[in-house]
Amino acid sequence: MRRERALLRGVLVAATAFLVVLLPPPLHAPAPAPPAVRDDGRPPATEADRFDRVLRDAARQTAEHERARARADRLRREVERLRGEAKAGEGAGAARVTRADVERAVAELRAAERRRKGIRDRLWRELEEAQPGFATAGPDGCDLGRRSKPPRKRPGRWVPPTQGHRLTAGWAARGGRWRSRHTGQDFAVRAGTPVRAVGPGTVRVIACGDAYGNQVLVRHADGYFTQYAHLSRIDVRPGQRVEAGQRLGTAGATGNATGPHLHFEVRVTPYLGSAVPPLPWLRRHGVPLKLKKG
Ligand SMILES: [Zn+2]
Repeated sequence: MRRERALLRGVLVAATAFLVVLLPPPLHAPAPAPPAVRDDGRPPATEADRFDRVLRDAARQTAEHERARARADRLRREVERLRGEAKAGEGAGAARVTRADVERAVAELRAAERRRKGIRDRLWRELEEAQPGFATAGPDGCDLGRRSKPPRKRPGRWVPPTQGHRLTAGWAARGGRWRSRHTGQDFAVRAGTPVRAVGPGTVRVIACGDAYGNQVLVRHADGYFTQYAHLSRIDVRPGQRVEAGQRLGTAGATGNATGPHLHFEVRVTPYLGSAVPPLPWLRRHGVPLKLKKG
């Protein structure tokens, strides 16, 4: 009896030693449950919360960029004025504006432009990080037509993006269709209406399949981007040079759209979150479009 008990104890000790020493610990220990609330008592931030924060911050930086751009524009006009006066004064033999005055103004303009570009570059980096891959999106899922050619009769000036339109939802309109506020200008048109580049530039992105449907982004010489969204068909390719009035595609209702219309947006970077009021921007480029009441 005693021998049997001793034997049993021996077996138990051996088995325990085997389990503890020889068996490896489980590879995937269950992770501790995440806390239901954060330290500040609020629920954990979701992906959407984070994105909203990025967009709010981007809106602030975009407004700052626009102020810096307005200041640089003012200084550019001032440099031109001083240059003109200096030249006129040289001829008259009594220069009220000296070369040093012009150089001072030029230095000020350069500093203002550096500041503007610094704001834009930071904004660009932050939005790129929040929307990876967008600027390099390919034509996957796009309804592609043939590459358009520059208009035979060049307009020689900037043009509206469509003809025969009615301006509908404007900049910063509120409504259930948008995350917060409307970031562009809508042009209600019949489906299939040609959509044209407002000015000369280079096609930077064509992307399809998100809330904007089939969209084209054109980069212009002043660094701004124009976006043309909800297209039924795209008639340009990334990298293609386009002239003012050149067809980019046709209007449609792809993506998050309740009916055929063009969503037109002007951006400081290629990314969502850096839009500026589009009609004043167009007016600065010589395209007078006014929102009609009613
Ligand atoms: Zn819109």
